[in-house]
Amino acid sequence: MGNRVWNDKKRFIWILSLLLLVAFAVTSGISYQVAHDSLSTQIKENTLPLTSDNIYSEIQQDLLRPIFISSLMAQDTFVRDWTINREQTPDKLIRYLKEIQDKYATVTSFFVSEASRKYYHSSGVLKQIEDIEPEDAWYFRVRSLPKHEHYEVNIDPDTADKNRTVIYVNYKVFDFDGNFIGVTGVGLAVESVKRLIELYQARYNRSVYFTDRQGNVTLHSEQYNGAASLQTSSGLESLATRILTSPSASFSYQKAGETVYLNSRLVSEFKWHLIVEQQEDRGEQKLLTTFWVNIGLSLLITIAILLIANMTLGKYQRKLERMASTDKLTGAANRQAFEDYFAKSLANSILESSPMSVLLLDIDHFKRVNDCHGHNIGDLVIQTLSHLLKGQLRNDDLLCRWGGEEFLILLPGCSLSQGSDIAEKIRKLVEARLVTINGCEINITISCGVAECRTSEKAEELINRVDIALYQAKEQGRNRVVMSY
Ligand code: GH3
Ligand code: MG
Ligand code: MG
Repeated sequence: MGNRVWNDKKRFIWILSLLLLVAFAVTSGISYQVAHDSLSTQIKENTLPLTSDNIYSEIQQDLLRPIFISSLMAQDTFVRDWTINREQTPDKLIRYLKEIQDKYATVTSFFVSEASRKYYHSSGVLKQIEDIEPEDAWYFRVRSLPKHEHYEVNIDPDTADKNRTVIYVNYKVFDFDGNFIGVTGVGLAVESVKRLIELYQARYNRSVYFTDRQGNVTLHSEQYNGAASLQTSSGLESLATRILTSPSASFSYQKAGETVYLNSRLVSEFKWHLIVEQQEDRGEQKLLTTFWVNIGLSLLITIAILLIANMTLGKYQRKLERMASTDKLTGAANRQAFEDYFAKSLANSILESSPMSVLLLDIDHFKRVNDCHGHNIGDLVIQTLSHLLKGQLRNDDLLCRWGGEEFLILLPGCSLSQGSDIAEKIRKLVEARLVTINGCEINITISCGVAECRTSEKAEELINRVDIALYQAKEQGRNRVVMSY
């Protein structure tokens, strides 16, 4: 029986741990997923577009200024009059260009005349534009722009200082009759725009860069380590068209196992796309940490619950086992426990070829005790006897309450005569001792049968023999021990 209870307990503990772990894992998993989804939606639909909008409007302000200045220069009546008047006194134009450059802090300012093809710069006439010169291709490109397009922005080496790169705004100039008479404009140092990008990157903790309409990455910070174009950027190959064909786009893609959120805006004045990217967020890291902390806590809680369950179950199990095997009144073993213990002891005695005896004892005239003192006192007498018997036994002996006032004692390792000696000792002890209960002195005696277990004798046969011996003791006048031979 004990074994089955133990197996049931083990199964219960297993099922409980499984249930707890699954429940904890599922709830942690679900809450992680929900938080993750809402975070990524938040990034995709709110945070990133908002950041992108901020950067867009700020950078646009900075970039629009040179376009505005160039447009002023192209409209300037002095520039147009001076050109129409056959470009006399070049110093005047050169001084004008210098003024513009100083006033607006641009890196360059220029005018190219269609009539003379001279390249005027704040520092003088730099050169003559040639249509066969690849370096001068920009001029002819601007010249042949469709009528409604007044300017073009491009990034080229500085004509005055080949070591640096300049973002040029090339603005078409017309005379008062609308005839094309040249191209003017200013240039921004690429370096300063890069610094601007770096500033935004640092401020918003995002990666910022520009591409032209073909997808080539035109402007980026020093730290940029991506590809030269969207089409060759890992993870973006198939998305490049989507970015380049729409004025704004927002999505996420996978790059080297990480999620990257991307937002793009077309800066129409430059015909560039502003791209703002965000790597897997720090919030994401926090979510993961929370997830693992949850799992850890769940494990601890599971372990704590299992320990408590195990302890409680163990306690109840022991209590149940005790209740199932002991007599309530005396605490002595009951018949069920006797059978188990008898089988074990018998096997042991066969193994060690040692004898084993039993005593069956019964209180003499117990009815009188009940009749004189009442049933409750009778109970106390039985308890007192049980206590006294227990005091006379060794650890291996078993005291069992066999019936009302009848006790069976199993004595492993005892022969018939040894058993008989013990029985006699107990009999004398009971006879000699006055049992005092609630101030009444009660004298009791016991009769006892003794039998030694024979080889291959069954429990019932042995009990039967010892019962006969007890009967004989009663018959012979009580308060005596009779052996069964
Ligand atoms: P004898 O054994 O000497 O032949 O006489 P007796 O009076 O003891 O007779 P017997 O053993 O047959 O009867 C036992 C009596 O003990 C019967 C019953 O009233 C009483 N008895 C049995 N169990 C209990 C019990 O648990 N408590 C009390 N108080 N009395 C019990
Ligand atoms: Mg009896
Ligand atoms: Mg009796």
